[in-house]
Amino acid sequence: RHIKKYFPVYGGSLSKLQGYVHAVDDVSFSVEQGETFGLVGESGCGKSTLMQTIMRLTPATAGSVTFDGKELFSLKKRELRSSRKEFQIIYQDPFSSLNPRMTIGEIISEPLLVHGVKEAEERKRRTFETMADVGLQKSFYDRYPHEFSGGQRQRVSIARSLILRPKLILCDEPVSALDVSIQSQILNLLKELRARYGLTYIFVSHALNVVRHLSNRICVMYLGKIVEIGRTEDIFGNALHPYTKALVSAIPVPDPAFQRNRILLKGDVASPKDPPKGCRFHTRCPFAGERCMEEEPVLRDYGNGHQCACFLNER
Ligand code: SF4
Ligand code: MG
Repeated sequence: RHIKKYFPVYGGSLSKLQGYVHAVDDVSFSVEQGETFGLVGESGCGKSTLMQTIMRLTPATAGSVTFDGKELFSLKKRELRSSRKEFQIIYQDPFSSLNPRMTIGEIISEPLLVHGVKEAEERKRRTFETMADVGLQKSFYDRYPHEFSGGQRQRVSIARSLILRPKLILCDEPVSALDVSIQSQILNLLKELRARYGLTYIFVSHALNVVRHLSNRICVMYLGKIVEIGRTEDIFGNALHPYTKALVSAIPVPDPAFQRNRILLKGDVASPKDPPKGCRFHTRCPFAGERCMEEEPVLRDYGNGHQCACFLNER
């Protein structure tokens, strides 16, 4: 609820505080058990920062996160560590997120060690079980990350996040660094695991068509704010926000006869340091009027949990 993450910006010869980057600016949403909640937006819109904040890997400037009845931001270190069993994160880059000096077996089993599974045999048994779950051969156990391709390494990260049998996994662009041919294998694996273990995902991507395959609901962010949330079918069939419409219209369709009218956006994403006044999207919006430059639209509900922050829909 109301999560904010501001980063101070220093500059000049005296390194004076010059302002704040509003990376995440008052974001609220909820995720149901068993659901996959897709989070979409261009790079720099605050998606990863939001995930880091939820995980408490970086402190929030304001707001709260309730997970299974527990308020995460007020947990003591020890309580936080034991809750970490229940929510895990998978990163975009399986090259830098795996320790090159640890074997695959050590990497995957490390969370068990951290969470007090003392018998080596037990750790090994559970590691092999999880390796099988993600499609890694037993013989990889004593080998090192650099011996494997990006897709295999991402399977290792997934195994590592899965081994404690978490309830929630935050997937931060888990396929963005992979070849297109490998992407669908990993997405299918995530789907299978969700069904087998009743997992809940928050799935982050800059690509709407990637998020589509897994998500029940999709949330669109722009410059640190949520501009639209809705069921996947509503986002694709009835997008309300001009930014969402532009993202949907940019996805190529197989039959060109049905190609939607492409909505082209002007300009680049504005800086989150001094976000534009009024609607943050007005500098790029083809429909921006005078009101949009002065007043900030808030999220309103249009039925079935479909929410949008844009004046155009308010009539
Ligand atoms: Fe565009 Fe105005 Fe809607 Fe913002 S509020 S998205 S500028 S029409
Ligand atoms: Mg990111």
